[in-house]
Amino acid sequence: MEYRTVLTTCTYCGCGCGLYLEVMDGHVVNTIPCKTSPVNEGKLCVKGWNVHEFVHSPKRLTQPLLRKNGELTPVSWDEALDFTVKRLREIREAHGSDCLAFLASAKVTNEENYLIQKFARAAVGTNNIDHCARL
Ligand code: SF4
Repeated sequence: MEYRTVLTTCTYCGCGCGLYLEVMDGHVVNTIPCKTSPVNEGKLCVKGWNVHEFVHSPKRLTQPLLRKNGELTPVSWDEALDFTVKRLREIREAHGSDCLAFLASAKVTNEENYLIQKFARAAVGTNNIDHCARL
């Protein structure tokens, strides 16, 4: 049996609590709060304590889905991105930039969230941008 711990940062919100993931035989099996993290000092909220559970979940999306003939269908990233660009352009040309809105995520980095608000404001031309980490 192979066992190790990996020091990382909770992905559930923007607080950035430090934690260790316990890994057994290549599977993430548990979470331990990091006592030396200046952010959380050995404490976690209930989401943080359970952050390891989604990693191997069979419900996790592993590729983009597009609705085709009423059914969500797995597609490549290229197809999903081409479709998204085409629809964003069509909607903006037909109804204006403020008919589009963007919802960023706590499950990506601050830098990626910065990029999506920049994309919304500078590339698309709307201030309709929000974020799910406003706890
Ligand atoms: S979800 Fe909870 S444990 Fe995770 S970073 Fe936010 S406050 Fe910390």
